[in-house]
Amino acid sequence: MSFDADLIIVGGGLSGLSAGITAVREGINVVLLERGEYSGAKNVSGGRMYIHSLLKLIPDALERAPLERPITKETYYIFCENNRKITFSFEERGKRNSYSVLRAKFDRWLASEAENLGLLISYSTNVYNAYREGGGITLETDKGSLRAPLVIDASGVTSVVFRSLGLRRFTADKWMLGVKEIVKADLQEGQEGEAITIVNAIKGVKGGGFIYTNKDTLSVGFTATFDSLPKGEVPAKDLVEAFRERMGIEGEVLEYSAHAIPYYGYSNLPPLYAKNVIAVGDAGGFLINDGFTIRGMDLAIGSGIIAGIAAKKILESKNYEDTEIYYKMLEESFILKHMKLAYNRFSVINSSLSLYPEILCNILSDMFTVSEERRTLVTDALIILREKGVSLGKVIDDLIKVML
Ligand SMILES: Cc1cc2nc3c(=O)[nH]c(=O)nc-3n(C[C@H](O)[C@H](O)[C@H](O)COP(=O)(O)OP(=O)(O)OC[C@H]3O[C@@H](n4cnc5c(N)ncnc54)[C@H](O)[C@@H]3O)c2cc1C
Repeated sequence: MSFDADLIIVGGGLSGLSAGITAVREGINVVLLERGEYSGAKNVSGGRMYIHSLLKLIPDALERAPLERPITKETYYIFCENNRKITFSFEERGKRNSYSVLRAKFDRWLASEAENLGLLISYSTNVYNAYREGGGITLETDKGSLRAPLVIDASGVTSVVFRSLGLRRFTADKWMLGVKEIVKADLQEGQEGEAITIVNAIKGVKGGGFIYTNKDTLSVGFTATFDSLPKGEVPAKDLVEAFRERMGIEGEVLEYSAHAIPYYGYSNLPPLYAKNVIAVGDAGGFLINDGFTIRGMDLAIGSGIIAGIAAKKILESKNYEDTEIYYKMLEESFILKHMKLAYNRFSVINSSLSLYPEILCNILSDMFTVSEERRTLVTDALIILREKGVSLGKVIDDLIKVML
């Protein structure tokens, strides 16, 4: 059976475009299929990108990429019961490690970089099925069928290729909901940006909120596990509006979007490679949310670069059944190393998202309360732990997990 290309990439988001750019540089005959009218048309992101992977892909990106503001100030809001709140900030002026980005602009720019390098992108092409045939994979799209011996699934969290091949099922318990609004804001030109992280952003909802400063807008949103969302007819749009109100953010809402976010964690990652196919970015479940950082974009670009290099090796070997080399390269890279490191924090957050903030609020409240009876901080902490039914052993265990 003849093939239409040596490599087909499904999805023109950050991971697919990074794989495409790398594949073109490796001299591979590659086609990318994107269902949107342009790259970025269908993406959602809160928009803070850690730029180390981007600089690996495009070394002079800082001069050319449509980045909004460097993020140099971190602010935390931790909400507790009974109208209590902890706030703290950390500033590191001049730091250039992460930037706010607007994906519609950014992905479009990256796609034009890829096309300038010679990547063939077919837009408005929706892949709805994939099956193995004649030693390769046939992809059914609304513009007809295409075949290749090797396919990179970069279609995001829904991973259409892996799902069609029966390698994965929809798993809402392994996803979170991400909701974002872009709000017009009167911001001073040239100033560095701020990231605000909000813990317990919406009462009873397990997840967190974020606010990032762009050039003349704010990205405002939250992430939440599906099982903790209010039951019944409460649209996500109402939740984000309640959240915006709570944070005192006014201004015209220019854009609203909602999207699923992978929430597997290192120990529960879905299959990342199989005969004729490998998965990158969100399709591979690469997301880190350790309470300090939300990272999917640098992992998407990083895994895309690795996939492009792995594709060259697989195509050269002509053994399309054996794609494990991709996994081995991931293991040696920051992708799986960082996912593994973050897993301990992830599991503590997952099990105790509201517990520790509440304990901390109780301790702080007692510290600032003067009455006839005065306890030591240790006594205070022990009493609160007893009230909450938490053993000292668990606290020490969690502390070690967070530190390691
Ligand atoms: C609300 C929210 C906030 C976030 N905040 C951050 C953050 O601050 N920092 C960070 O680093 N990460 C963040 N993330 C995660 C980050 O956005 C993702 O990890 C990243 O976008 C993954 O890139 P990707 O290319 O793998 O997938 P996507 O960006 O989802 O791209 C997938 C592409 O595939 C295309 N596609 C899908 N299905 C098909 C199909 N059947 N046929 C053809 N094409 C298809 C889509 O149109 C899309 O262009 C956030 C995510 C959300 C939802």
